[in-house]
Amino acid sequence: MGRLLVIGCGGVAGVAIHKCCQNSKTFSELCIASRTKEKCDALKQKLEGTTKTRITTAQVDADKVEELIALIKSYQPDAVLNVALPYQDLTIMDACLACKVDYIDTANYEPEDTEDPKWRAIYEKRCKEAGFTAYFDYSWQWAYQDRFKEAGITALLGSGFDPGVTSVFTAYAQKHYFDEISYIDILDCNGGDHGYPFATNFNPEINLREVSAKGSYWENGRWVETEPMEIKREYDFPQVGKKDMYLLHHEEIESLAKNVPGVKRIRFFMTFGQSYLTHMKCLENVGMLSTSPVLHDGKEIVPIQFLKTLLPDPATLGPRTVGKTNIGCIFTGKKDGKEKTIFIYNVCDHQECYKEVGSQAISYTTGVPAMIGAALIVNKVWDKAGVFNVEEFDPDPFMEMLNAYGLPWVVEENPATVD
Ligand code: NDP
Repeated sequence: MGRLLVIGCGGVAGVAIHKCCQNSKTFSELCIASRTKEKCDALKQKLEGTTKTRITTAQVDADKVEELIALIKSYQPDAVLNVALPYQDLTIMDACLACKVDYIDTANYEPEDTEDPKWRAIYEKRCKEAGFTAYFDYSWQWAYQDRFKEAGITALLGSGFDPGVTSVFTAYAQKHYFDEISYIDILDCNGGDHGYPFATNFNPEINLREVSAKGSYWENGRWVETEPMEIKREYDFPQVGKKDMYLLHHEEIESLAKNVPGVKRIRFFMTFGQSYLTHMKCLENVGMLSTSPVLHDGKEIVPIQFLKTLLPDPATLGPRTVGKTNIGCIFTGKKDGKEKTIFIYNVCDHQECYKEVGSQAISYTTGVPAMIGAALIVNKVWDKAGVFNVEEFDPDPFMEMLNAYGLPWVVEENPATVD
């Protein structure tokens, strides 16, 4: 019996909240709080009568620590699930710390304004020292380790699919299949089609920033950076078929490099169709992906935010998207002195997700593990004081809940590998 405060009410939150309501034994009470309260009220109305979970709603600007503290103090949750944007990670962590409440999120911190000189100075130092130029990294949140430990509370970072399930797959492979893992390839394939010439499957600003950035991978103890989309491979995904995929920088590489002893290489690939890439390049070339304000007719606008206004809301793609996703990890390493390779993956069908919770599979595959992470924290199955990534806990209860809550997984021995 627990009480959860969910912050954010977009695509991922919608699924996470549906799933919490399916698990009302754990989440007897839930408060949905976001910037736009009408969205929270609409979701509450949709779910009431279908669940035993008691739902309330609230308005909050999660950029403001004081507002968050006031909300947490008045609602008294057992944990806070952050499914707003990565921009709000630090303010929400600050509020959890002030109120001594556990914290869960699905994406690591990145700043909204990448031109902010204070942030930029730290970022540029990190680029030089660490060797990768992505705007997001874990250093900001890992810096809370001592404070969370002293307060006796948990921060669970990255409890989505990737990061999240891919990290749990890694912990599971390490626990049950290998003495040592040498190579990890994380493959994220979306074989879905929404019928629009161009749309993103989750928040456009976050998605386009990630995809248009330089790629990078971890090899022999250091980062190797590539040009955007420089490394391309083809893979024949079970239940989806052959797709082109491209190497990207991705946040779980950073934590897995730290948490998988002896790992030699970690790469992340995501599939994209040619039309998506051509549209993105064109938008980038004309400056529409810029996060820096420009003057338009005497008014300041941020190009990528204006683009977000023009693009379809990812939360509305559900009814139109057909096809499947296949996301998982290929591990190569040694067990009892013998080399072996396994592929652990989940296949998710966009239309099945829509039938169940009214969302496409990208929000679904993120929202389900967000609920699972929150449930394991609220039930104290995962219980350590400090700041942790999901692979630092026992993977077994998480893997069981994936099967029970709509994301069944497969372990394939001797799969095709990526060169
Ligand atoms: P959406 O844009 O659909 O939703 C974001 C929500 O956060 C909206 O409800 C928005 O409010 C709210 N919000 C934004 N700013 C504030 C604020 N200052 N105060 C309060 N609420 C705010 O995003 P998604 O649902 O697609 O993504 C949610 C998170 O999930 C992101 O962090 C994303 O990076 C992460 N993600 C993680 C994945 C993984 O596998 N690990 C995969 C996909 C996404 P409003 O309605 O007013 O705009």
